[in-house]
Amino acid sequence: MTHEQVSIEFTETEIQAMEAKIQNPKEIVICPRCGGRLLFREWPTAVEVRCETENCLHGSIRGI
Ligand SMILES: [Zn+2]
Repeated sequence: MTHEQVSIEFTETEIQAMEAKIQNPKEIVICPRCGGRLLFREWPTAVEVRCETENCLHGSIRGI
């Protein structure tokens, strides 16, 4: 499994939260930045994790 972070840089805590969401998409994972929930979305070639708050955490990971 290759993780390729796209877009902005994240803190270690934020990466851990996003990875937790990717590994357990049905679990509720709280955004470390704003306290909102992280949302998970799966694409044909990538997965996307973003915060429910606009312009907060947003990461895509390709190559899964
Ligand atoms: Zn957030």
